[in-house]
This record gives sequence, structure tokens and C-alpha cells, in this order.
Amino acid sequence: MTSARTPRDYYDVLGIPRNAGEGEIKKAFRRLARELHPDVNSHDPQAEDKFKEAAEAYEVLSDPERRATYDRYGHEGLRSGGYAPNFETFGSVSDLFEAFFGGGGFGDLFGGAARAGGATQGGDVAASTEIDLAQAAHASTVDVSYEAIVRCQNCRGNGAEPGTPIETCARCQGTGQLRAVSRTPFGQVVRAAPCDVCHGDGRVAREPCRVCRGRGRSVQRSNITVDVPAGIANGQRIRISGRGHAGERGGPSGDLYVLIRVREDSRFVRDGDDLVTAIDVPAPLAALGTTVTVATVEGSVELEVPAGTQPHETLVLHGRGMPALRGRRTGDLRVVVNVVVPRHLNHKQRELFEQLADSMTHHNLRTDEGVFAKLRRHFGG
Ligand SMILES: [Zn+2]
Ligand SMILES: [Zn+2]
Repeated sequence: MTSARTPRDYYDVLGIPRNAGEGEIKKAFRRLARELHPDVNSHDPQAEDKFKEAAEAYEVLSDPERRATYDRYGHEGLRSGGYAPNFETFGSVSDLFEAFFGGGGFGDLFGGAARAGGATQGGDVAASTEIDLAQAAHASTVDVSYEAIVRCQNCRGNGAEPGTPIETCARCQGTGQLRAVSRTPFGQVVRAAPCDVCHGDGRVAREPCRVCRGRGRSVQRSNITVDVPAGIANGQRIRISGRGHAGERGGPSGDLYVLIRVREDSRFVRDGDDLVTAIDVPAPLAALGTTVTVATVEGSVELEVPAGTQPHETLVLHGRGMPALRGRRTGDLRVVVNVVVPRHLNHKQRELFEQLADSMTHHNLRTDEGVFAKLRRHFGG
């Protein structure tokens, strides 16, 4: 780094005591690297600088000679002794990681993903299914069909035609790894790469399995019954662990993610856990009061429309909406009243309306509402 600021104490950077052993230094650096890895820490704009600082501290403290110089003479002593950290030659922080930890997906750094022998976890699989709103309102199950890589049935995953031997790989002498030495600004870095013949297995089939051509795995369509929790919303995913692609060389399977699409229901609009619907009520009945039948996700219910209900007034059926996914109270069904003013009146009806209109007084028609209140109701506010 070319910045003029005073470099921090290397022990502070790694968070270790001055008498830390080799193992402790390594462990501290790996822990920091894990935290600062760009795949993990994309939100910290300083992650790259922090990693370079940690890499420099590690580079010095992991080298007994440099460490002794630093312990005695500090940063100045190192610089005058000819040491200069040089991380700028790396194109990206990923390259820098690779220089320290080798390629192959940082499995070494994160542990587990690439164990000895090349065991790798299978990838995740995405599938989707559609349910209707009534299903979403209840805990239900749905059958999902998906394709995933599975262990080959013919060779049971070992890649050899049944009855034929599996032999020690000649290329890597059974270690599963080939060592490649590359030059980096830190000097020579020895990297272990999986053997390209046995792919890290250390063993190869003399006669590869006919079905999977020695890969030990094949693509298969599977069906699974998925439990769908009540209250699920369109676009949410359900994760089923271990039902993704099969792992390689004994690695665990990936996960299956099922995207749930909730079909639109022409009777309802969903608003969070609430459902909204609209009903037509003839103007005379809105004035008189009436009982109407309203559809809910649980079937029809009777709803009282009080006398004098105005256009766009909302009546609430508590607890008739969608159940909350995380166990809170069930939503409501909000029923918007659409008052229908009669049209195409016949002679008799016209007469009745005329009589009615003549009989109206201020007391029948006053609303006690300002323009804003009226508009708010109209626009559903
Ligand atoms: Zn096979
Ligand atoms: Zn090999």
C-alpha cells in the first residue's frame, strides 16, 4: 500500500498477543479473511483495504525472520530492511485471496465445501409451483416435480461398471491432488489442485459405468410433497434441505428451493394479511339496511349492511383474511360497499323515486363530511 498513513501494529491487526504461536497467527488471519472475503462482505467498502492490511500483517508475522525484525525495529526497520508489501499488482482482491488460499472456491478457507478427496456439496435446485388463494390460506401440501442430479443407480455412485475394479489413479498416485507451484509477490506458492484424471478421488474405474459414463451421477426427475405453511404469499420460497443436486465423492446434497406462486383470486385483492373485496348494494337497500352474502376464503358468510351505508364505506369482517405466516393474528376481510344507483326505471319506479325525492329533508341527506373526507373514502384511504 502506498498510503502515507502510519501502519497499524501487526499484532493489533490480527488481534493476537505478541507471543502468539505460528498456529495462532494462521488462525487469526484465516478468521479475518473469512470475514473480509468479497463474497461474504460485499457491504463493507473498506473490506479490501482491511484484507490487504491483514495480509501484510500475516505476511510479516508468519515469516520468522521478518517477524524478528519487526519485533525489534518496527515498521521502519522492516522498510529499511527492504521489505515492502506489494498487493497492488493483484487485479482484484479475489486474486489476492487466491494467492493466499489457492483456487477452487476458497473451500480450504471456509472449510467443509471441499474436503480431502474432493468431496463437494451438490448445488441447489430451484423449482416452482402454483397454488390458489384458498390453499394459501390453509396449511396444505403440494406435489412438486423437479430435476436434480442424483447418485447413479447403476454404479451406486462409484463410477465403475458393476463387477469391474476401481484402481488407484496412476496420475496422482492415489492422492487425488496435483501440486502446482506458482510465483507470486509473496514468493513461491504451492497450490494443490484436484487431479484431472480422477477428479480428486484418487481412484479411477477401469471400466466406467455405462449409465453415467463414470461420473457416478445422473440427472433424474423427482417428485416431492412440500408442506406449504398457511399464509404464504406469492413469490415466497420454501427451502427443503438436502433435496438439491447430489454431492460429489461423498459430499452432501444441495438444497431444493420451491418458489410458491399464489394464483390471483378474482374475488379478492390481497393486502398483506388482509383481503379486500367489493359488494354491490342497491341504493334503496343501502338506505334501508340489508343482509348480503359475502364470499370468504373459507366459504360464504352473511354480512349486515347497516341502514344508511354510504358508497365506498368499508365493512370489516375480522379474522376472515389470510392467516399470518409467523403466527400473528389472522388478517381481516375488508368489504367495500359499492352502492348501485338504479337505472332504466319504469314508470312506477320513477313515480316512487319522485315521491321519495320530494319527501327528502336536510336531515336525510346531510353527511357532516368535508370534501376531503368524502374523497378519502372514495379513493379508499
Ligand atoms: Zn454410474
Ligand atoms: Zn488422480
